Amino acid sequence: MYKLLIGDQRRTGNGAITVIEPATGQPLAEVAAASPADLDDAVAEAKRAFATWSKLTPVARGEMLYRFAELVRAHAEELAVLEARNVGKPIADARWEAGHVAETIRYYAGAVDKFFGHTISVKKGGLDITLHVPLGVVGLIVPWNFPMVIATWKLAPALACGNTVVLKPASLTPLTALRLGELALEAGIPPGVLNVVPGPGGEIGQRLVAHPDVAKIGFTGETATGRAIMATAAQHIKRVGLELGGKSPNIIFADVDVELVAREAANSVFANAGQDCCARSRILVERTAHQRFLEAFVRVTESLVVGDPLDEQTQMGPLISARQREISETYIAVGQSEGARQLCGGQRLPRPGFFLTPAILDGGRPGMRVVEEEIFGPVAVVMTFDTEEEAIELANGTIYGLSGSLWTNDLKRGLRVAQAVRTGVLSVNSSTSVHLQAPFGGMKQSGLGRELGMHALEQYSEVRNIYFETQ
Ligand code: NAD
Repeated sequence: MYKLLIGDQRRTGNGAITVIEPATGQPLAEVAAASPADLDDAVAEAKRAFATWSKLTPVARGEMLYRFAELVRAHAEELAVLEARNVGKPIADARWEAGHVAETIRYYAGAVDKFFGHTISVKKGGLDITLHVPLGVVGLIVPWNFPMVIATWKLAPALACGNTVVLKPASLTPLTALRLGELALEAGIPPGVLNVVPGPGGEIGQRLVAHPDVAKIGFTGETATGRAIMATAAQHIKRVGLELGGKSPNIIFADVDVELVAREAANSVFANAGQDCCARSRILVERTAHQRFLEAFVRVTESLVVGDPLDEQTQMGPLISARQREISETYIAVGQSEGARQLCGGQRLPRPGFFLTPAILDGGRPGMRVVEEEIFGPVAVVMTFDTEEEAIELANGTIYGLSGSLWTNDLKRGLRVAQAVRTGVLSVNSSTSVHLQAPFGGMKQSGLGRELGMHALEQYSEVRNIYFETQ
């Protein structure tokens, strides 16, 4: 059984979570589930560890984080296989993610001693300086789609800044989080600095959010859960960072190389089986390119290799659970009943596991549920537009504002549309949403705050202002 990690103790918790392997539908592991008392102990351990960890210099913390990064790199293949089996993602993607985890820890190990305060000229004279100080115990609550990547985006800057962490992974995917906790200890990071407590979100996650000794919650998950977390956090004016849902637009003007963009469009909506907050699941195509695009998009989508995550050729694995597959199937049916036309996909594979072939719905219009709601599965909806203004209006026409892409060879139009689209992240003539060195996060109901880059260090510290009277 995988046990909880609280301080330097491995605990059996209160009952067990059976983790299912999505590619087989069979049990993969038994994991201890934290009880409320375990959660309270984890917070107490983190509070105790904060007293010493926060006093270390950023250089000293950075050195330990470098060792942690090196250990992650040394165990990258093990982490990748664990993640591929637990989430069902293709092994090639999981390998990239394990490398990215090591790079992220390394980035913050090196960034934190370059995170300077200011010296400010105030009217009164004297000396006015700002300090960046850690917040205290930080609770991190993460989802199941990129378990080790999203945990690391939070824990690396949080630890670098001198906070201590209680990490609650999703019950479906707790395995790599527990392994990261072990590797941190092995790297010499003191016990209690990083605690890992799997358990049900509604009980253990909620208790972490409500805990008076937790200074901040870093959360990634559904918008509805984020709303509940923000309401609970308000009780103690607790800081919150929220990375929530998305329904990202892929805006395609007719002047582009349609074949190339169709390949990119397939990749950017069906990667991770569509279970990606940045999935470009609303494809907005200029009407004059619509037919050409659809032909290429369907061809590319039908050629995607759906299969065993551990097979090197696989491009799309199963969905995370039977429930997640049913949600996608239901949305396909809803889309048809709303008047959309299914062009391909939506088929289960004749094998165990939660496989579903990638589906394309054409004829999306504002007001349809499949156009406005996050599906979080391999379902793309295609819509058409006639003018630049209409493209912008459609792109901005949901409660979300996380990510998106824009394809055009007209530079001025690219600049105009890029500025008018209200998403936290937008890529022009590219599908990439994430750059370790640049801020990532959502506008509107896609979230609050930014991760990655130097911005994340601001999110895990408080600015203090100290004035010295010199006369
Ligand atoms: P979820 O909100 O159901 O769960 C996320 C985490 O919150 C889990 O660890 C869960 O146990 C916990 N949780 C659930 N209820 C809770 C509560 N009341 N209090 C405290 N914790 C609680 O989300 P999910 O289904 O695991 O993940 C999918 C969602 O995550 C999608 O909406 C997706 O868009 C979003 N997501 C966003 C980003 C981003 O960066 N914006 C990245 C990945 C995923």
